[in-house]
Amino acid sequence: MENKVNIIPFSEVTKFHGHVCPGSAIGYRAAETAINELSSSRSIDEEFLAIVENDSCSVDAIQVVTGCTFGKGNLIFKDHGKQVYTFVNRKTGDALRISLSKGIDEINPEFGKVRQKAFSESASSEDKIKFENQKNKLSENILEMPADELFKIEHVKIEIPQEARIFPSVKCAKCGEMVAEHRARVENGNFVCIPCFEDYSRT
Ligand SMILES: [Zn+2]
Ligand SMILES: [Zn+2]
Repeated sequence: MENKVNIIPFSEVTKFHGHVCPGSAIGYRAAETAINELSSSRSIDEEFLAIVENDSCSVDAIQVVTGCTFGKGNLIFKDHGKQVYTFVNRKTGDALRISLSKGIDEINPEFGKVRQKAFSESASSEDKIKFENQKNKLSENILEMPADELFKIEHVKIEIPQEARIFPSVKCAKCGEMVAEHRARVENGNFVCIPCFEDYSRT
């Protein structure tokens, strides 16, 4: 592929996320896979859309690597508790669904044992150090594994969600704060914000 996008180093994810962990490693690999498979130019920020089905550590990596963020409206969260990530290239319409195909303990069987010990009542400081070391090792395993062993990767067809729009704001009749019109509720013919409306509904 010409014009291949450079993928930022994992250390940038760690800087943003605050620690090295298996979750951020999974997110990094998912984002990297998507960019390799879907991207045609360097400006991935604008053309990419990510749909994430959990709100764990991995999503921080996805934001850093792909540039998809809540603020730009190209990061969509579905609260399914699944390690599934769908990426869409809005320019080409290509979509890739990436799901974790191995459990953490399958990737690194030592990890489960060490974790259990580290979180038991009788855990020594040595057990905790062992756990931290194994966690780093597991993160490394994830970063080094072939993507098609780590994930099930499928090209899929999905309907492309609309790009973020800018909505007009209205003033809440109760608290006086501005609220996006499409989020406002109507109470006695006046616009009110959701928290004020919910106070009203509860009484
Ligand atoms: Zn983390
Ligand atoms: Zn209000």
